[in-house]
Amino acid sequence: MKGPAPRALFLGARRSFEESRAVLFGCPFDETASRRKGARSGPGALRAASDAIETYSPLLDADLEDLPFCDVGDLALPEGDVAGALERIGAEARRILSAGKIPFGLGGDHLVSLPLIEAAAEAHPGLLVLQWDAHADLRDAYEGAALSHATVMRRAGERVGPGRVLPFGVRSGTREEWTRLRGEARLRGEDGPRPLTPAAVEEALGESAGAPLYLTLDLDVLDPGEFPGTGTPEPGGVSFAALSACIAALGRAGAPIVALDAVELSPPCDPGGVSAVAAAKAVRELLLVLPA
Ligand code: MN
Ligand code: MN
Repeated sequence: MKGPAPRALFLGARRSFEESRAVLFGCPFDETASRRKGARSGPGALRAASDAIETYSPLLDADLEDLPFCDVGDLALPEGDVAGALERIGAEARRILSAGKIPFGLGGDHLVSLPLIEAAAEAHPGLLVLQWDAHADLRDAYEGAALSHATVMRRAGERVGPGRVLPFGVRSGTREEWTRLRGEARLRGEDGPRPLTPAAVEEALGESAGAPLYLTLDLDVLDPGEFPGTGTPEPGGVSFAALSACIAALGRAGAPIVALDAVELSPPCDPGGVSAVAAAKAVRELLLVLPA
């Protein structure tokens, strides 16, 4: 069969680990995806799609060519072993953090963020987590499992402490999850969770007092019209342009991001391949706003 050769690495990644500031790695994991599996092939599809975009971002006036980053490929994760897979992801995150670099995990379902957040919190006390997501992910258990993409932010909050996970763009969840979201919003004098807008991001950064940041981008925060390729699509999301503006706001504010991820791209739900391109473009923009 003819076709383009699969790109082994993300667009423009040609530096060595040693000279890199940021390190991409794939987490081909979807053991806990609830509705539609497929996120395990997310990192590969995202890399392949990165071939379709430019290294230069007109919005940010910055170019991946100038950025010292590398892509170490996909982790080999044990099949059917959730704890083992999370342990492997955490070990890779710690290896990168202990070299003074920024780990950037590519999912995979959202549970892959948990070991990354744990490793970042270990390395950077006082960590604040920015969660860009359509879903609250605050269940205590899902289908009997305490570790799931539907519980991941509950577990992360237990790790980093009350009020240290800041959700943006959430528009779906159980009544109990919304009681939690609204309770937290009331402490800020607001009625509900933050929208995903540049103003809301800037305000949160302004209040963060320079805390080290973890950014978890659940790509389903995008509207399914523009980003259908995800396991739990949720109507009423933000546009890609709005997401890009929020990423640009991180850059303008000099957000002290110490680790990050982009998760929940599910290639089987993306027959036209447009979601993989959007995911690759979001990863490019995020790379370009990381602290130098
Ligand atoms: Mn989600
Ligand atoms: Mn999520």
